[in-house]
Amino acid sequence: MEVGVKVSIFHKIMLYAVLLVIATVGISTYMAVETETAVLTNKLILLGKRTAKDIAFAAEKAFSSSNWVFVEELLTESVWRERGEVICSRIVKPDGTIFMANDKSFYGDTVDLSFLAEQSTVLPDYFFPEQKEYGTLLVRSVAIDNEQWYVMVGLSSKPIKATIRRLILHDVISGSFAVLLGAVVSFLLAQSICKPIIGLTKAAKIISDGNLEHRVVANRKDEVGELARTFNDMAVKLRESYAHLEEKVEELATEKELLSITLGGMSEGIIAVDINKRIILFNIVAENLTGWKSAEVEGKAVDKVFRIVDEKTKEFIESPIDEVLQSGKTERGTEYDTLISRKGTECPIAVSAAPIRKSEGAVVGVVMVFRDVSHEREVDRLKIDFTSSVSHELRTPLTSIKAYTATILRDPNMPEETRRQFLAIIDEESNRLAALIEDLLEVSRIEPGAAKMRRETVDVAAVIEKVLLNLTPLAQKKNIQLRKDIGDELPTLQADEGKIESVVMNLVNNAIKFTPEHGHVAICVEVTDGEMVIRVSDTGMGIPKEALSKIFDRFYRVDRPGKQIQGTGLGLSIVNKIVTMHNGRIEVESEMDQGTTFTVFLPLTVKFMPEVPSAKEACTK
Ligand code: ADP
Repeated sequence: MEVGVKVSIFHKIMLYAVLLVIATVGISTYMAVETETAVLTNKLILLGKRTAKDIAFAAEKAFSSSNWVFVEELLTESVWRERGEVICSRIVKPDGTIFMANDKSFYGDTVDLSFLAEQSTVLPDYFFPEQKEYGTLLVRSVAIDNEQWYVMVGLSSKPIKATIRRLILHDVISGSFAVLLGAVVSFLLAQSICKPIIGLTKAAKIISDGNLEHRVVANRKDEVGELARTFNDMAVKLRESYAHLEEKVEELATEKELLSITLGGMSEGIIAVDINKRIILFNIVAENLTGWKSAEVEGKAVDKVFRIVDEKTKEFIESPIDEVLQSGKTERGTEYDTLISRKGTECPIAVSAAPIRKSEGAVVGVVMVFRDVSHEREVDRLKIDFTSSVSHELRTPLTSIKAYTATILRDPNMPEETRRQFLAIIDEESNRLAALIEDLLEVSRIEPGAAKMRRETVDVAAVIEKVLLNLTPLAQKKNIQLRKDIGDELPTLQADEGKIESVVMNLVNNAIKFTPEHGHVAICVEVTDGEMVIRVSDTGMGIPKEALSKIFDRFYRVDRPGKQIQGTGLGLSIVNKIVTMHNGRIEVESEMDQGTTFTVFLPLTVKFMPEVPSAKEACTK
């Protein structure tokens, strides 16, 4: 690049200057040659005329005196007189016979005089065979012996040509010197112009490479010096602007860092777009929820990355970003918004979007905040299920209590036996109601902060015995065999007896409930590694794999189409809570239509989990 500029301007100046000198030398040479040729030709013609005149005059005199010696000498001498310009001279009779000539060998020869018809005395380019050259023939008439004789003088152009050649040679030599001089002068001129330009180009390159301190020498007083000074001023201003810019960039980087830390730490997904809906910000939660990486989506149209469908209809919904761009106000999504991720998976979300405005108020983009609400939606669903389940559970025994009570009241004469049967049913249903309410109470009792644990020495074998006694009628109804396998010397447990009983009761009750008729339910207890292990297994319907992680959630019940098994979805959550409070754990293994085994591990010397402090206590700590 640098070389290109240098070569171009430098050579152009040189070339133009040299061409100018050559043209000047050429034109002046041409003009000199023309002028010199004209002058020399005129001189030659004059010489020829003078010679012809002298010969004619001498011939006239010689005729009258009959003495031709002088004429003969004059003819000879004329050829030798003027540097070879006169190459022949002769006196010709009217019939063309050469009467006398500078060379006597031509005496008596004949000249064709037909050319005289042209009436010209000067004939250019006349060939003189005896001289073997071209020249000019000059003819003058002279009256001799009452006749018109002719004096012919042949003039050579050789001397003129030689002079012109010399002239050209001189001009070429001096022209060459002029060209050489012109080249030297133009070289110096080109250098004086190009050098500062090359210097400025180099300086500009150094500055563009980042060295803003670089300056050029600016001591010349001419326009080039002015240019160099302006260049240096520009470099100073550039350095100042750059320093200012660097400060701003640093400030912006810090702000960006802060913003990205803040956004990264947020639990919501955040996507910001410009007015053309191109993504300008995408935080880590947005990455996790959509499955796209921030680097992949920056500058991409948001509709290609973030798509919402209605949870129920599965139809695409207009994104809140479009609504904000139309209304200019903050917009919220619907309660059925579901995000479709990059892989096509669905995730229920709560989404809202707000306009980003410039200081003068114009909308320049939209920021959208969204979060995963699958847990809330699940809880909502479970609550609805729970409410309907509890209502159903409460209504069934209540309906039958109401019906039997009304029948008894309506018929005072009812046989005693029938009344007793009805009262027994009322009693049984009341017990079911009481059990359900007890479950609900148990749930509220073991809520954090409300749990009151008692530390007692518990004989687990006795507890199991009691539970089995209570549940035997239920098992017998379904012809289910209850088995127990308890070691003889089972150590006691430091625990809350009532709650341990609740654990065993729930597990065995569930085992009987979810095992078809003629099945088996077994409970075994053993001690391993300082832990008491209580295992309740059945040959029942099993639990689907996908439900295993959820069965300990409150209100969760496995959906079993076509099977009406009553329950509240509270039992296992109560069991899990109690086991955790005793610093133990519970595991489940299940095979569909094969059976299920729940295993509870309890430390023999239980350190109760510290009670969760109340909100007030937590705040004051
Ligand atoms: P429920 O009142 O429905 O019994 P639980 O919390 O006790 O509520 O149990 C939750 C779910 O776990 C039940 O709906 C049931 O489908 C499943 N479950 C619990 N124990 C067993 C078992 N022994 N066999 C098969 N399924 C079980």
